[in-house]
Amino acid sequence: MSNNSFYYPQKMGRVMLLGLEEVIGKSGLASILTLGGLTELSPNLSPQKTDKSFSFETICQIQKSLEQQYGPRGGRGLALRAGRACFKYGLKEYGSLMGITELAFRLLPLQTKLHVGAKSFANLFNKHTDQKVRIEESEDKIYWHIEQCPLCWERTTNEPICHLAVGLLQEAVYWLSGGKVFTIEETACIARGDSACTIEISKTPLS
Ligand SMILES: [Zn+2]
Repeated sequence: MSNNSFYYPQKMGRVMLLGLEEVIGKSGLASILTLGGLTELSPNLSPQKTDKSFSFETICQIQKSLEQQYGPRGGRGLALRAGRACFKYGLKEYGSLMGITELAFRLLPLQTKLHVGAKSFANLFNKHTDQKVRIEESEDKIYWHIEQCPLCWERTTNEPICHLAVGLLQEAVYWLSGGKVFTIEETACIARGDSACTIEISKTPLS
């Protein structure tokens, strides 16, 4: 099996590049892509192209280059911020498809919105990408298990590194709840030898 057998559609890869560009700027993005040997990529990619062409290897290489360029701590902070920015661009592309921009959805009680929103967000990945997400819920938490994860694809580390996904979910629940902040952290990561990358989302807002 080739390393390139799992993909995001180009449209979603573009969302990731736009989010990164917003945080590190055009020249920052250009140096990351050069560092990763990915100069053929650009946020100007056609958003119409929905074929699966953005490989997991590419997505992981972008995260690695971000760490190389800014250091592990700097890279982590930027990946979190880029993830939050990605949500905004993703919402533009996929919001109506997920049904979460409809008024009827927005008027649901918070806990129902978190439950329905998590499911429909997971479905988006499961249907349109090779990233597999499984949702598990307890009384006070939502567990977002990524079972095939592009962010840490074929990496080995000592700690969880899928920061972009954490940022994405931070912004998703912030938006869903109309501006509330929730504790969200990655507690397991495939790169660390866990069976899935697990992001725990508290169901109770901090503020
Ligand atoms: Zn991961």
